[in-house]
Amino acid sequence: MRIVLVGPPGAGKGTQAAFLAKNLSIPHISTGDLFRANISQQTELGKLAKSYMDAGNLVPDEVTIGMAKDRMEQPDAENGFLLDGFPRNVSQAEALDEMLKTEGMKLDGVLDLEVPEDEVVKRIAGRRICRKDSSHVFHVTYSKPKTDGVCDVCGGELYQREDDSEDTVRKRLEVYHTQTEPIIDYYKAQGLVVTISALGKVDEVTKRAMAALQGDA
Ligand code: ADP
Ligand code: AMP
Repeated sequence: MRIVLVGPPGAGKGTQAAFLAKNLSIPHISTGDLFRANISQQTELGKLAKSYMDAGNLVPDEVTIGMAKDRMEQPDAENGFLLDGFPRNVSQAEALDEMLKTEGMKLDGVLDLEVPEDEVVKRIAGRRICRKDSSHVFHVTYSKPKTDGVCDVCGGELYQREDDSEDTVRKRLEVYHTQTEPIIDYYKAQGLVVTISALGKVDEVTKRAMAALQGDA
């Protein structure tokens, strides 16, 4: 299956992607995690991306599309993938369609996670991620690690993302509404969108998501 996850920052895309990818035996590809890995390895791409991420803006398409394409071309993504955070504007969606078309492939679905803004703000304010692997995600009250400040998965240090500060979150929400939300209509025109509520416990949302992707919702 080739799936795109869409939803505002803090909706729970990364959290759900980890479970969905496992259930569906496909890799979870998060462009945000790829950028953060580049930042911690201090690559040129990481240095460039950081300035945009810290300001809550999108990293330019020229570098983002190439990075996403390279990852999708890895052998583990041959039979499918779950995209989280990509595409994030209509030109990225068009580039993805073009890339898939060239390979004779297509998307199977776009899962739209709906969450009210006040909930998103609470989720982001308490989010803590792992320094060793930013796909390991916790929350200070909703998804507490066994030991404060320590990743349950790998023992890495947990920290608050710089771009999870109140001002940057406001900017990221604005960017979501103006640049990312239009991809939902773009994909609706292709009949690909299933929308679910991302409120409730993590496992309840996962069940809802699996049902929606399998066409049972
Ligand atoms: P996104 O990838 O969409 O930005 P995350 O998966 O990182 O969002 O989730 C944002 C925060 O909300 C994290 O701290 C996560 O632990 C928490 N979270 C995710 N899903 C839920 C949920 N269903 N209920 C409560 N908190 C959640
Ligand atoms: P995320 O981890 O998905 O919340 O993304 C964190 C930040 O990385 C975003 O605010 C952007 O600055 C950048 N980013 C992630 N994915 C993309 C993308 N597809 N296009 C542009 N910027 C992105």
